Amino acid sequence: MLDLHVHLVGHNDREANRENIRAFLDEASRRGLKEIGFADHDYYWEQMNFPLIREVAKDYPQLNVRIGLEAEYRPNEEARIKHLLEQFPFDFVIGSVHEINGWAFDIPEEEQKHWEQDADVLYQRYFDVVTQAASSGLFTTIGHFDLIKIFGVRPRTDILVLAAEALTAVAKHGLVLEVNTNGRYKPVQEFYPEQCLREEIQRRGIDFTLGSDAHCAEVVGRDLDEGIELLRQMGVHSIVGFLRLNKVRYSLD
Ligand SMILES: [Zn+2]
Ligand SMILES: [Zn+2]
Repeated sequence: MLDLHVHLVGHNDREANRENIRAFLDEASRRGLKEIGFADHDYYWEQMNFPLIREVAKDYPQLNVRIGLEAEYRPNEEARIKHLLEQFPFDFVIGSVHEINGWAFDIPEEEQKHWEQDADVLYQRYFDVVTQAASSGLFTTIGHFDLIKIFGVRPRTDILVLAAEALTAVAKHGLVLEVNTNGRYKPVQEFYPEQCLREEIQRRGIDFTLGSDAHCAEVVGRDLDEGIELLRQMGVHSIVGFLRLNKVRYSLD
């Protein structure tokens, strides 16, 4: 079991100090994880302390501690992200779309706007940006692939049609998609991505990883046993972690 989407500093809620790193690694150990991957939001770059994570990780030899980043993908900021990624030898990089043309759509204050616009157009605009993210060559992983459903708005058109181009880009570039369990605690109350997308992802031969999207230590590994069970029931035989941008495969059999 692995959790490759964990926010040590949350939304700038705490420092990346020894005590806080230990709290995350203790919880990962308690839950029996084999691998944990820190992936803080790139907004908090200045607060990160990768060398200290490496140092504290030495006290947890049974745990593969990976260091990644959750980068905000904006189409006109690829150079900025590329520059960040050159600063550290990351194990994995999650590209996430939380914004459409400068509209930070996933915060609670923005829910009303979701209901006011055409759902198909909303989904199309979102997946257009995801397609660009997947084609950018910057990432190993796309975060919460169908985040646009966060408030429960559903498109009229088949989601497999709306997401087709993005999935093609993900497959073409060998990217990985996460079963992100955090969606259950949002208004939509289900994991990202939804079941029919998970089935299509598997059909296309795209690899899965797992992420709790924990923004505090208590939530590390949350519901991932259920995520694994869902994948097993679909006939998925392995999931992937990362080491220095290379996939490391874990068998589910
Ligand atoms: Zn995110
Ligand atoms: Zn996240």
